[in-house]
Amino acid sequence: MKGVIVLGTAGSGKTTFTANFSRWLNGNFLIKSCPVNLDPGASSLPYEPSYDIRDIISVEDLMRRENLGPNGAIVRAADLIVDRSEDIVESLTSLDCDTLIIDTPGQMEIFAFRPTGRALCERLSRGMRLLSIYLGDYDPKRDLEDLLSSAFLAKILELKLGVKVIPVLNKSDLWGGRDFSDVWEAVLRGEMSVLEGRNGVYADALQDLLKAISSFRSPIRVIPISAKYFQGFGEVFDSLNEAWCSCGDMT
Ligand code: GDP
Ligand code: MG
Repeated sequence: MKGVIVLGTAGSGKTTFTANFSRWLNGNFLIKSCPVNLDPGASSLPYEPSYDIRDIISVEDLMRRENLGPNGAIVRAADLIVDRSEDIVESLTSLDCDTLIIDTPGQMEIFAFRPTGRALCERLSRGMRLLSIYLGDYDPKRDLEDLLSSAFLAKILELKLGVKVIPVLNKSDLWGGRDFSDVWEAVLRGEMSVLEGRNGVYADALQDLLKAISSFRSPIRVIPISAKYFQGFGEVFDSLNEAWCSCGDMT
């Protein structure tokens, strides 16, 4: 079995990608791809999940039963996911599916900054060949600092989760015909040229951050996609296959 964990900040398009990529895989290849929901706070989903975490842990239930506010309930849900991770992974690995596309909590902090993500990824990696996709969310109105923090987050997640991260830049349909993935690539490679025209203390600090990013250099290609309009999925699939081939056998 293969698995793809879909990561990204709130609103980056994780749920849209999970729904449409899995639909696309099923339509184009003889692959049984199943969307999985690991977001205990999801209200409605644009796909029919093969497994839904809300059947056992739901933010809405926790708010009602334990009288918690929304953030308290999200944190509580994250801790419960760790407690139940053996059961969750057991249910996922026994699904009748070739490839799981795994949607994660809207608030990525749960995965990035708490034990939840690592606990699940470690256990999932024992039962399947697991990769992750990090969805960057970019439109031309954003600053370089936004791309930098996003690039850092992708790297931190790779270190923290112990799973290879494939960087993808979503919402390309909003770029007005330009391709911004090369800017993110340059940031991930730590190229100083992205700082052109910036001076002062912040420019120095940004330079140090770029150096730090380039120090955990890995071969980087950022794939531009539009999850909403099914664009760029072929390249994502090629990139996943390449990583799967290089990290194990093909069974
Ligand atoms: P999540 O919080 O990461 O799960 O994000 P969602 O999948 O719920 O998407 C958040 C918002 O971004 C929704 O309004 C989506 O319709 C929108 N969205 C997602 N992908 C795209 C895309 O490729 N292009 C555009 N224009 N909007 C998108
Ligand atoms: Mg979502």
